[in-house]
Amino acid sequence: MNQVDYLRISLIDRCNFRCQYCMPEGAEIDYILKQQLLTDEELLTLIAEVFIPVGFTRFRLTGGEPLLRPHVVELVRAIASFSQTQDLSMTTNGFLLAPIAQNLYDAGLRRINISLDSLEPDTFDQIIGNRGRGRWEQVWQGIQAAHRVGFDPLKLNVVVIPGVNDHEVLDLAALTLDRNWHVRFIEFMPIGNWQLFGDRGWVSSAQLRQQIRDRWGLTDSQVRGNGPADIFQIPGAKGTLGFISQMSECFCDRCNRMRLSADGWLRPCLLNETGQLDLKTALRSGVSTAQLQEQVRHLLAIKPEINFKGRESGTTGIYSRTMSQIGG
Ligand code: SAM
Ligand code: SF4
Repeated sequence: MNQVDYLRISLIDRCNFRCQYCMPEGAEIDYILKQQLLTDEELLTLIAEVFIPVGFTRFRLTGGEPLLRPHVVELVRAIASFSQTQDLSMTTNGFLLAPIAQNLYDAGLRRINISLDSLEPDTFDQIIGNRGRGRWEQVWQGIQAAHRVGFDPLKLNVVVIPGVNDHEVLDLAALTLDRNWHVRFIEFMPIGNWQLFGDRGWVSSAQLRQQIRDRWGLTDSQVRGNGPADIFQIPGAKGTLGFISQMSECFCDRCNRMRLSADGWLRPCLLNETGQLDLKTALRSGVSTAQLQEQVRHLLAIKPEINFKGRESGTTGIYSRTMSQIGG
């Protein structure tokens, strides 16, 4: 059985972007009320007294947009300071990154994934919901700052939407030619925007690889990821290309993660709502962390049965939360 030692922690469900595929403009989103968010203290208690004791050693901070969380640098410092923390990373849209990239690094963050779906400012604006001019430039500054500060590996996440940014796949892949960056193409999932998904569909990783192979060739990389990405490299390139193919392939058997939402729900599978634990309510009503450890251990034991590998198995409400609410 795969060891599950990786926790994706959503720090906040809110976001300063409205990506078409995640929380499109105009969509009704029930934001978590402030008093329902895990406090810093509750989050750190859960990590130190529940997750670490049951074997979690790798943590990723995400959201929503994690950089909107107050005290994010202090949280990074606290999580990095636990001796059992082997890996601490963040997924961000990069918009607020440039001024605090160094502080995050100094606090102990070492790996960062930045979402960048387009190299064209206009297309980018369209994808993120026209939040105001100059956003692409500011994100690019964030990426440059992360690079300068020394985040390694620096990963860029691209969700490919047919007819929106699929014409840029080669340009985005070309970023790896002379930079030690990892560009990861993520298949669009029917979470967050059913209509866009229904209208546009998704592009398979195999198709993208063929496009790239036709242009430059593509070798299997020596670097093996420990997550869901299949990693390849353009011959002679400094960086690598990752493909996350959750629509065209099932990687549930190698799933190594759980997700903690900003309001404290522990979720064993992204695509299945079965088995979730409301850790915040339990903590607030006085359940001991020793008891919570037992509950999480049980969830770890039954996770293989919950994993969504039986895609036809028909669980209910599987997509009732968006990626921003779950902690993508
Ligand atoms: N706001 C941060 C960001 O955008 O990087 C972190 C949270 S975001 C929900 C995490 C990742 O989920 C992003 O890389 C985003 O592109 C991806 N994502 C969101 N909705 C998706 C969807 N419907 N299909 C595939 N990936 C999605
Ligand atoms: Fe915000 Fe990230 Fe979702 Fe885009 S993908 S709306 S940046 S949470």
